Amino acid sequence: MDEITIREAQKMVDDWIKTYGVRYFSELTNMAVLTEEVGELARIMARKYGDQSFKEGEKHDLGDEMADVLWVLMCLANQTGVDLTEALNNNIEKKTSRDKNRHKNNKKLTS
Ligand SMILES: [Mg+2]
Repeated sequence: MDEITIREAQKMVDDWIKTYGVRYFSELTNMAVLTEEVGELARIMARKYGDQSFKEGEKHDLGDEMADVLWVLMCLANQTGVDLTEALNNNIEKKTSRDKNRHKNNKKLTS
């Protein structure tokens, strides 16, 4: 599959919603759906990396659940006018200027 940029992915989600989804769910509904999807991701993480165990025959797909989270987040970005490419670039810059030495100086991480 071809690589896609975050901006292209936002556009793909928008095209899909306009073609198949009729319209976006309201922002608050999508916020609830995002929470629901994060919960589904947490369920897998707790069972795969944590102390919980899967039920017998239970199917799980970590990548698919992460994609669900990304999908709804992109819906929210589209309907609230957020350009995630710009937001992520700004966020990484902010983290770098704020925390570039913080973690290196954290003895809990380095010892
Ligand atoms: Mg899901």
